[in-house]
Amino acid sequence: MDTPIGPGPTGMNLNHIKVCARCSLRYDWRKSPSSMKMTYCSSLCERADLGFTLEALLRYERVKDESKEPAAPVV
Ligand SMILES: [Zn+2]
Repeated sequence: MDTPIGPGPTGMNLNHIKVCARCSLRYDWRKSPSSMKMTYCSSLCERADLGFTLEALLRYERVKDESKEPAAPVV
């Protein structure tokens, strides 16, 4: 028997349930691996929507810092 998620007691704490801005999936934001866990259900959705993840951006900045190449203009 499926228990539809909706108003009223369902055994889940709906305060922690968010709807993903990308795929409209209901998810528990505390369990989202996304760095924007209140918005996206996963880092995949975050990256698909934003074109990057904050985590990847931070890593990229670090990599760029170590490289000796001149910064190329981003198109
Ligand atoms: Zn999603």
